[in-house]
Amino acid sequence: MVPMALAAVLWFGETMNPVPLRNNKAAAANVRSVTVLGATGSIGDSTMDLLRGARDRYRVEALTGNSNVQGLAKLAREFNARFAAVADPARLSELREALAGTGIECGAGESAIIEAAAHPADWVMAAVSGAAGLKPALAAVDRGATVALANKECLVCAGDFFMERAAKAGACILPSDSEHNALFQALASGNRDELVRVIITASGGPFRTWAASDIEQATLAQALKHPNWSMGQKITIDSASMMNKGLEVIEAAYLFSLKPDEIDVLVHPQSIIHGMVEFSDRSVVAQLGAPDMRIPIAHCLGWPDRIKGPSARLDLAKIGQLTFEAPDFERFPGLRLAYEALRTGRGATTVFNAANEIAVAAFIGGKIKFGAIARLVEATIETWIRSSNLAPLRSADEAIAVDNNARNVAASLLPHVALKAS
Ligand code: NDP
Ligand code: MG
Repeated sequence: MVPMALAAVLWFGETMNPVPLRNNKAAAANVRSVTVLGATGSIGDSTMDLLRGARDRYRVEALTGNSNVQGLAKLAREFNARFAAVADPARLSELREALAGTGIECGAGESAIIEAAAHPADWVMAAVSGAAGLKPALAAVDRGATVALANKECLVCAGDFFMERAAKAGACILPSDSEHNALFQALASGNRDELVRVIITASGGPFRTWAASDIEQATLAQALKHPNWSMGQKITIDSASMMNKGLEVIEAAYLFSLKPDEIDVLVHPQSIIHGMVEFSDRSVVAQLGAPDMRIPIAHCLGWPDRIKGPSARLDLAKIGQLTFEAPDFERFPGLRLAYEALRTGRGATTVFNAANEIAVAAFIGGKIKFGAIARLVEATIETWIRSSNLAPLRSADEAIAVDNNARNVAASLLPHVALKAS
């Protein structure tokens, strides 16, 4: 029987995993080449920090950003990357200028980000924000790389198809989202047929104790004040609406091939326990750590071994108390919608993600109130289903087409939702 953790990366196909199993120290002895997609972001920053601390073990192949040319060039110079790319096609000359005399190749536009992912690195961090990360992540998957997946939206967008393609290419997907990394570690304690459920924890975000009427009116500044984690803007807003937890429920289902009823969410304001797995003997195995993304990323970077991490050691006596609450599906309807989309299937999670991306951008742009984010997602999914658009996704192109169409539907519903909210 294959242990669950391996089953996750093997897609239940025992022979497909190209990554050496535990205790094979050959991999650790070699210098590993790494690429970081989204190097200028929050996850990128944590990843580069880990790489900085282990220069003898890792060599940087390619780095990418969206428009932060100077930040990207600084990293490319520091790590002597072979290739650097920005997604904004208008920034190529600026990037060239910033890297002049270094010999570092550079590119711009979506195709250059995909090219960066296709460069021959052993390990790729997929940390672009949003569904824009799907094609680059697939480019790494298709050449059978080890992909540390932070970019949950690309998995929610492409669903089963992403994992099938990884299995076909012999790619290894290592979950680096903290909750999924916790599950990945805990699942190693048992087999698939012994699993009862997984539990992913949620801090509850800045509005955990707020009344629904106050959440409705929350400002951007309030939504960006996460109590525990320092993250990029989009995921911070998703955490405030608990859409992030919804995305993570879907992410867990696809990563580990779980049914919706096998995934529970537990609010845990201290963010110390990240995920737990309950087995048939009623043992519950948990992973703990400070709320520092360098911990799960270090696990992915070292896997199948463990590297020395720079994060603070966990001092539970100092923390004193760990508390737990049931999630509130009424004040945080995004979580309910995620379960519904997962149960509906046939592209519904793609629509859920696309509509949420449009809603978050509209909220940031001051076009809708905070409470309208979930309403827009719900209205988009309802319209999608009413128009008989549900159909199983058979390819990445189909997922991208559904994503684009759903964005158009969401955009067309925006004025209606904004009006309702005012
Ligand atoms: P950030 O916004 O901080 O960084 C996003 C990165 O992607 C930046 O490098 C950005 O470039 C780049 N980028 C943005 N848009 C595009 C595009 N269209 N094409 C190519 N590159 C683009 O996000 P985070 O680091 O917080 O999150 C990244 C992913 O990881 C998300 O999917 C998130 O859900 C997930 N994640 C994040 C966690 C966290 O703690 N931050 C925790 C768990 C998961 P530029 O800097 O130039 O704008
Ligand atoms: Mg998470």
